[in-house]
Amino acid sequence: MPLAKCARCKTMFNKEDRPICAACEPLETADYEKVRAVLETHPDLNSEEAAEKAEVDIAVITRMLKDGMLTDSAATKAATCGQCGAPALSASKRLCQPCLDKMNAGMARAQASLKMEAPKRVEVGEYMNARAAFDSKRRT
Ligand SMILES: [Zn+2]
Ligand SMILES: [Zn+2]
Repeated sequence: MPLAKCARCKTMFNKEDRPICAACEPLETADYEKVRAVLETHPDLNSEEAAEKAEVDIAVITRMLKDGMLTDSAATKAATCGQCGAPALSASKRLCQPCLDKMNAGMARAQASLKMEAPKRVEVGEYMNARAAFDSKRRT
């Protein structure tokens, strides 16, 4: 059994599969339950907000996330596509590549039809007439 430093109380202990010692085990479980309960009712919280609401140290949540104990928090779940629920490109984009392509194509189409509805034709004839009228007015 490898000797390791407890992630909670920093004492050395015989590490099995958990990063905390036996003495901290109940505390860890309590924290975990608190965080889970908070995330269940508020799945959109990020880890900082969840830590505050659960009154648990942010370090505990970060470690639980890293260890894969928490998988359904906003910190890990945020990156899903808002359109189809597929994994998103990034948490800020909230879109997957196919949906992003679809949106870009739709935007390009909208822009193209906008251009067709408002053609910019130069009315040469009108310009010339106006110019002639202006000139004749000036002459009289
Ligand atoms: Zn400990
Ligand atoms: Zn999508």
